[in-house]
Amino acid sequence: MKKLVSAGEILVEIMAERIGQSFLEPGPLLGPYPSGAPAIFIGQAAALGQPAGLIGAVGGDDFGRLNIDRLRALGADVSAIAVHAGHATGTAFVTYRADASRHFVFNIRNSAAGLIETNAAATKLLAGADHVHVMGSSLFSDRAIAVALSAIETVRAKGGTVSFDPNIRREIMQASGMREALDQVLARADIFLPSGEELFLFSSATDEKGAVDELLARGLSCIVLKKGAAGAVYHDHHGAVASSGFAVDEVDPTGAGDCFGAAFVSFWLRGAAPAEALRIANACGALAVTRKGPMEGIFPLEAVEAFIATGNTP
Ligand code: ADP
Repeated sequence: MKKLVSAGEILVEIMAERIGQSFLEPGPLLGPYPSGAPAIFIGQAAALGQPAGLIGAVGGDDFGRLNIDRLRALGADVSAIAVHAGHATGTAFVTYRADASRHFVFNIRNSAAGLIETNAAATKLLAGADHVHVMGSSLFSDRAIAVALSAIETVRAKGGTVSFDPNIRREIMQASGMREALDQVLARADIFLPSGEELFLFSSATDEKGAVDELLARGLSCIVLKKGAAGAVYHDHHGAVASSGFAVDEVDPTGAGDCFGAAFVSFWLRGAAPAEALRIANACGALAVTRKGPMEGIFPLEAVEAFIATGNTP
């Protein structure tokens, strides 16, 4: 089976307990939950049985251990996660506003996550990789951008493939060079996985069809538009395939897009038809929102298939 690699931020997430809770005053918090978009992605891919490994860095603290233990338990290759004693693992504090939007306080660049590098273990992991997945949020510093671009070059040089999820987080977007890096990654991608309005950040068109046509003409193999509870639509040079979402009670949307992407890319790498890859991906995205914490709704393939068959959540 083909091996998938991602590189980027490994974090713990700490969540405000109440909807509408402000971070301007003390309040009850939940967590720590293992997190970081590329970590969620790799954890979900591994849970589905795809060989998958992550390049990143954590501190020599309990938060780092929590992440490594969880990824290992899900079956991921953690050999290229560096542990930096004397640095703290990255954090993301999140609160949900009454209008369902999310507000984050991140500590990524100045945490152990910011020490990401293509070291000997990362080089070894990439030597065995067939596919690299890049998250826009992982392009948070010059150093992180260099790691992502070099992973892409290494994997493409031996005929491998690339997927890209913009995963735009306003709070991280200020990083200098990030906008240019997002375009560079898109230009090298085979699969593009935008969510909602992210499609229009990369196109001059103002309608969905125009943007999809323009982006496909630039060399992508396919575009998968994520549409929240409504599901997703796949586009390639032959046409489009739409797939409805699964009905679930959403308790926390964070991580849905990462789990969806991991499932889609894993099944694309296995040669599944778009409708089949979308079905598994929609199921993984739906399951992700049924639990508080971005990795708490990751389930193995058998549980995902049982959910598809019965509609009952694990
Ligand atoms: P992102 O998390 O990247 O913003 P979406 O919110 O579109 O992306 O969610 C990704 C996928 O997760 C959706 O395409 C869908 O399959 C699934 N999903 C998200 N929210 C729900 C929900 N409330 N009910 C069912 N499925 C959902």
